Order: sequence, then C-alpha cells, then structure tokens
Amino acid sequence: MKCNICNSPAIISLKRYGTSLCQEHFISYFEAKVKETILSAGMIAEKERIAVAVSGGKDSTALLFCLYRLLSGREVELVAITVDEGIAGYRDDTIQAAKAISRQLGVEQHVVSFREEYGSSLDRMVLGKRVAPCTYCGVFRKHALNRAARNLGADKIATGHNLDDEAQTVMMNYLKGDFERLMRLRPRRAQKGLVPRIKPLRMMPEKEIALYCMVNGIFFQSRECPYASLSLRAEVRDMMNSLESQFPGTKLSTVKGFERIAEVDQSRWPQIDLATCTQCGEPCVGNRCKACEILDNIKIANIKSR
Ligand code: SF4
Repeated sequence: MKCNICNSPAIISLKRYGTSLCQEHFISYFEAKVKETILSAGMIAEKERIAVAVSGGKDSTALLFCLYRLLSGREVELVAITVDEGIAGYRDDTIQAAKAISRQLGVEQHVVSFREEYGSSLDRMVLGKRVAPCTYCGVFRKHALNRAARNLGADKIATGHNLDDEAQTVMMNYLKGDFERLMRLRPRRAQKGLVPRIKPLRMMPEKEIALYCMVNGIFFQSRECPYASLSLRAEVRDMMNSLESQFPGTKLSTVKGFERIAEVDQSRWPQIDLATCTQCGEPCVGNRCKACEILDNIKIANIKSR
C-alpha cells in the first residue's frame, strides 16, 4: 500500500476518502482536519486561555499534543486540568501519563480530585449502591472541571471527545428518546459561571487518534475503566463499531444527521438560562446542581445504612 500523495509506504487507508497516507502525510491530514474543526466553529481566539481536560488517555493526550502544535506561535495559552475521580487500578496510571505529556510540552498542569472536592473517591461513592458509576462520574467531573477552569481564569475548556464519542452520545439519546439532552450537544452560548466547552477532535475517529498518538510517540496503553462495561455507552459503542465496519461512514453520518435535525427548528429547543446553585454556587438548572443533589443523597444513604 502506497501513500497517494508521495508514493512512500502508507500506514493507513482512509476508506471514507478512498486514499492511503504515509506517516508524514497522515500527521498533516490529521492536524489539518482538527484545525478545520476549530476554525469552522470559531473555537479558539487570540489571547485566550484554554484549559485542556487531560485524563492521560489517548484522546486527551492527542488533544493536548495537537493543540500545542497547532497553536504554537499564537497568543493562546494552554493549561492542563486532570481530574482524579478515585478509581483504583485505573486512574493512577493515566494521571502519571497526563503529568508526563504536560511536562514534555511544558504545559502547566493542575490535578483536582473527587476526594478533595467532594470528600470521597468515586469508588467509595458507589460502593454497595445500585447506581451507574458513569452517571456520578460524569456529573462530578463536569462540576470539578468547570470550577477548576474558572478558578484558573480559562476562557474555554477543551475536551478530547472524538467522533466515536459524539456518534455514541447521539445514538444513546435517540434510544432514550431524550431530546433535551440531545440538543445540549449543540454549541452553547456563554452563560454566567459556565466556562464554554470546545471539542476540537469531534470529527476525528478514535482509531485515527490512536494512530496519531503512536506515530508521535505519545501513545500510552491504558486499561479500560472497570466501570465502563456497566454503562449503556459500552453497548452502543459495540453496536456502532459493528455498523461502521459493515457500513463505513455510519458514525460520521450519525453526527451529521443530528446536526441537520438540530438546525431545522432551533426555536423549539432554546437553550435554558442557567441559575446558580444555592448550595455550591455553580451554574445549574433549577435551585440546586446535580452534584449537590447526589452528595446529599449519598449522605442520606450512608446515615440509613449505619
Ligand atoms: Fe467515569 Fe464511567 Fe468513564 Fe469510568 S467509564 S471514567 S466511571 S465515565
């Protein structure tokens, strides 16, 4: 297999474009696609401070590395935030990887932990409870990231969500019939206290991200989170992977299809004005944020079980 651009040995065949690329041209293609995503949505402006959520997994590692390269020479500052949820046998390794990539690039890194923020690790929060760990994890991680990014004076939070994640999220919300949550995937206007989020890798397939990490020598093979298999996402991921291998382009068309639906009638799904949580002061819908609600429920459950 030869590179369609320079005839050198190819390292990847991009079926959706009917082309094969060598290492050098794959890196150029990857970074050009990410740049196009950033520019087309006006994600990053000059003089901004971008907080990159770096877990140490391949997506966030690729994100930090790629942003660092794309933004070099520009007046944009990167700062890494790593959230330690407290998941034994999983998170410790990825935190080391997050520290290593931040150090390698000379990017200031901050670690925030569930233990310090909420008084308990995720493992302890879910111990003996019939709850989906990913639900707790998602709520607290968003809460902790927003607070940390705001305290660091960040203008945006960049996350490593990729095309697979986006397609899975669209499909999960279709399956649940949850249109409110689905519409939250649209770019949102700025709201008081809420640091806007950007997803520069949202059009990049997971496999291409893994390859980008490998060819740049930043690949870290982490174990899968022990809670991942308990989620609906795991089922949807397998289904989407199977569909993609039979019908290439399924993931992209799932995301593009949603974008077309979202454009049709914007006024039917207006973005809700956020209030401020009466307990913690974070932006939320209603009086109290989800994180404070869950923390109170955990306290009540712990008292009852004594
Ligand atoms: Fe958190 Fe679930 Fe992801 Fe594990 S799989 S890190 S519990 S969201």
